[in-house]
Amino acid sequence: NLEIIFVGRSNVGKSSLIRKLTGHKVKVGKRPGVTLIPTHVRLSDLLVTDMPGFGFMSGIKERKQDIVKDKVVSYIETNADRILMAVMVVDGPVFVEVVERWESRDEIPIDVEMFGFLSELGIDTVLAVNKTDKVKEKELDRTLDDIVEKLGILPPWRQWMDMIAPISAKKGQVKPLVSIIRQRLHDEKRDDLF
Ligand code: GDP
Repeated sequence: NLEIIFVGRSNVGKSSLIRKLTGHKVKVGKRPGVTLIPTHVRLSDLLVTDMPGFGFMSGIKERKQDIVKDKVVSYIETNADRILMAVMVVDGPVFVEVVERWESRDEIPIDVEMFGFLSELGIDTVLAVNKTDKVKEKELDRTLDDIVEKLGILPPWRQWMDMIAPISAKKGQVKPLVSIIRQRLHDEKRDDLF
């Protein structure tokens, strides 16, 4: 039994991506960021898990990001034995702007913090930069370099193509991510799974 978990903010395209990759619908409710329970798709021995999205939820005092963060961390701790990798999905066109907004308030952006957590927990983490269809082709390299730099990875991003996948779930352009997942499963001698 192996598991791949998907993490990311609400609205980055996590469920569109999982649907594209697995052919199964994962989202339960329509309102973004409401559910706090991970949802699963099972592909024979491979469990694909959509973790709750970080975001704000009205009516709850504590920031939802903190609740979700705790959920993700305890989920990983509980299921560490079977978790092969995490895919962190970000919204490519807006990522840097969102991070800078947090930085201007002297706060650590949730994505940056979560990325750090995952590596501290020893989880092999892949960054899926989604919505690249909204980025002009000649700006894509620069955008990706800026994103990885914000996450503490030394650009150019092309040095890290085994862990960074520019994709568009909407356009069905997900090959870079599929290749990385296949490589990890190959390393586990489970090419049959995906
Ligand atoms: P989730 O909240 O992260 O699960 O995000 P969803 O999968 O529900 O997608 C949120 C919104 O982003 C929807 O309106 C999607 O159609 C849109 N979206 C998802 N992937 C892409 C993409 O690759 N490109 C563009 N332009 N929009 C996307």
